[in-house]
Amino acid sequence: MKRVALLGATGSIGRQAIEIVEAHPGLELCAAASGSTPLDGVDAPLTQVGGDLTELLERAEPDVVLNAVVGFAGIHATLWTLERGIDLALANKESLVAGGELALAALARGGGRILPVDSEHSALFQCLEGRGADQIDSLVVTGSGGPFRGRTREELADVTPEEALAHPTWRMGPKITVDSATLANKGLEVLEAHFLFGIPYDRIEVVLQPTSIVHSLVRFRDGASLAHLGYPDMRVPISYALTYPERAATPLPPLDLTALTLEFRAPDVDTFPMLALARDAGLRGGVHPCVFNAANEVAVAAFLDGRLPFLGIPELVADALERIDADAARDVDDLVAADREARRLAEEGVPVA
Ligand code: NAD
Ligand code: MG
Repeated sequence: MKRVALLGATGSIGRQAIEIVEAHPGLELCAAASGSTPLDGVDAPLTQVGGDLTELLERAEPDVVLNAVVGFAGIHATLWTLERGIDLALANKESLVAGGELALAALARGGGRILPVDSEHSALFQCLEGRGADQIDSLVVTGSGGPFRGRTREELADVTPEEALAHPTWRMGPKITVDSATLANKGLEVLEAHFLFGIPYDRIEVVLQPTSIVHSLVRFRDGASLAHLGYPDMRVPISYALTYPERAATPLPPLDLTALTLEFRAPDVDTFPMLALARDAGLRGGVHPCVFNAANEVAVAAFLDGRLPFLGIPELVADALERIDADAARDVDDLVAADREARRLAEEGVPVA
């Protein structure tokens, strides 16, 4: 029996993870947590709503932690898991992006592994099969382009939260759905890929594939490119992370290739500046990815509240990155301080209602 601690159990990933665990005889939940939503109907020996996730993990003694919390709130659970060498099934990309070198140092000390749940990174992980940077030409992170793909800047000025929440191919929580509309999600994913696989930013490309069938590709130095294909359904990467190195059956139908169209195009980086801002934060290094993430979290919340226009999101993030006066984080306290300062700077940019 593999003991799974599920953090973020009431969310989009969390609910699908429960389905996977229930269907697999070798998996059991040892703990489940949410931020504020009740865990009604979640059958786990330890449950917790709110509070310190590491205290729960301490008692749960998990074999694998599925971190499906949204946002920087997942940082302590990620670091706790990595430090102890426990397998981390990582959906909470924000914690790896913000934690950066600190998270990698904890991973090295703990000697465990990160099993990516983000579909693109699960795809890359499977195509890479542990091969190092020396054998890789480049990583290609694919994305649908979100609900506003093809629009001009003028056409984005008045878009509403409701329109941003209507994603064409994936059903996800509100924060990541808005991130998909701004392309901040692809930005976070470029940073995530850099930290997961140790590939420099100039060898991580983003390409749009509107139907979300190709989940990412690796170009190898010998000219071979390996891609991962499948219907857009998060149960596949969740199942892979929880049953790795096995491949358990899932209820998905086989891929019908003759019914598919596979088009690829370049993202419009001028209309969607979050991608470039994320790359820039990654190249500056230190706490800049953390600041990018924190300012984005504030901006997305303000947009969803109707306090900030859609085009205000990248403006707020660019401004916070411009104004932050911090370098690297020596420890988690520094990181938390950088996150807090970035939130303060970003809040200043939100128009007063
Ligand atoms: P969601 O909003 O649907 O769910 C978030 C979950 O986190 C909820 O259970 C909530 O109660 C919990 N939570 C929030 N703050 C918390 C806190 N302080 N302590 C404990 N729990 C807390 O979000 P989601 O769409 O499931 O996304 C979760 C994570 O997975 C995000 O990092 C997202 O980027 C990533 N992800 C999601 C998808 C997807 O298809 N939904 C795909 C790839 C990656
Ligand atoms: Mg993804």
